[in-house]
Amino acid sequence: MKIGIIGTGYVGLPTGVGMAELGNDVICIDREQSKIDALRAGKITLYEDGLEELFQKNMKAGRIKFTTSMKEGIENADLVIIAVGTPPHPVTHEADMKYIHAAATELAEHLNGYTVVATKSTVPVGTGDVVEQLIQKKNPHANFDVVSLPEFLREGFAVHDFFNPDRIVVGANTEKARELIKELYKPFDGKTQMLFVNRRSSETIKYASNAFLAIKIHYINEMANFCEKSGADISEVARGMGLDSRIGSRFLNPGPGYGGSCFPKDTMAMSYMARQNGVDMTLINAAIAGNLERKKQMADRILNAVKDIKDPRIAVLGLAFKDGTDDCRESPAMDIVGELLRQNAKVVAYDPKAMPTAKQLLGDKIEYASDMYAAVQGADVLAILTEWSEFKNLDLGKVSALMRNKNIIDCRNMIDPKQAMMNHFIFKGIGR
Ligand code: NAD
Repeated sequence: MKIGIIGTGYVGLPTGVGMAELGNDVICIDREQSKIDALRAGKITLYEDGLEELFQKNMKAGRIKFTTSMKEGIENADLVIIAVGTPPHPVTHEADMKYIHAAATELAEHLNGYTVVATKSTVPVGTGDVVEQLIQKKNPHANFDVVSLPEFLREGFAVHDFFNPDRIVVGANTEKARELIKELYKPFDGKTQMLFVNRRSSETIKYASNAFLAIKIHYINEMANFCEKSGADISEVARGMGLDSRIGSRFLNPGPGYGGSCFPKDTMAMSYMARQNGVDMTLINAAIAGNLERKKQMADRILNAVKDIKDPRIAVLGLAFKDGTDDCRESPAMDIVGELLRQNAKVVAYDPKAMPTAKQLLGDKIEYASDMYAAVQGADVLAILTEWSEFKNLDLGKVSALMRNKNIIDCRNMIDPKQAMMNHFIFKGIGR
């Protein structure tokens, strides 16, 4: 199948590479010239486990190409996938649709023969209708269907999730479009459940899923607060809860709050949509407010550990919003660092993959260390903010020798509290 993908970011690029690996001819389109130049030169533009190898392989095989030209990417396509950003509107916090509207308008004139236009971006309910109208207005003779094809990949596992999705949801209102999408996902026959629903249900499934997961995280964080006061241990509580198949064990890890480019914006967009429809979504609103407060609480915890120290030096391990990615968008770590800086603290940070992206956001406001031990040198408190597995292997004896004061605030429960005590740290984890 010939596929044009608009938007070559955290969704568009792994999707393009994955589709090429399945044997399709893929052209990825992005309006950012520097991104396309880098990709054409064989340089991957974001970090995802396993993506680089597949990217190189499919580039060599000539199955994936990159362009800034809408015409080149669309004119021969059987399927056009829209994977542009839908960031929160700065004022209303609804999903900002300017990139979707621009993509729909720009692609319209290049449609040629029957084409399915699939929206993979996370978009408010009714967007399929709007995309349809924009294309029709610009190109009244176009022969096309618009489908909703929401993306459920987890950053850090994008390649794995592309080839092993939990489910494939398709919101299509015509049989012809359903048939084309069935053909596309033929390699998944018998392995993955495909759910065909109407377009508005499909658009809602994405928001309903992300909001539910955000609430689950908020819930376990509140339960962790309770455990800290009551003498229970959140890891034991979460294990016990997770064994109930109705609850499930995933997303029960307490931490510094949810983040990333999806949950914060999607919960706010869902809340906005609900208000527009006259529905008050109290749980989602509580999760949004609680999550903002959570990051503030974590920053206070860190600052409290050094409140009696003059000009404290704070070592931060982890800047990405989660492990396995270099993405720092809406990262709790970045918000916490921001709060530390507002309180005039000196911060030195290390992240295995996210230093370049963090530097774009923070510039020289913090120091960047070359590894985790360089970060803790002379520090008064160590704050662990992202769950990179290498932080689990910290040699606490070495850390203890390097730090000026022996404080650890472990916001991801990576460190064994007993080991911390044995190495004479004042230690605080989450929910214990
Ligand atoms: P991103 O910002 O990483 O990438 C978007 C890309 O689209 C950018 O490179 C931008 O230059 C390009 N672009 C914007 N307008 C364009 C246009 N008119 N023509 C060509 N290119 C254009 O965004 P992302 O993280 O990949 O997210 C894309 C969408 O997928 C969002 O709606 C997001 O909510 C959704 N989503 C993201 C994830 C995730 O884990 N990142 C998961 C599921 C769904």
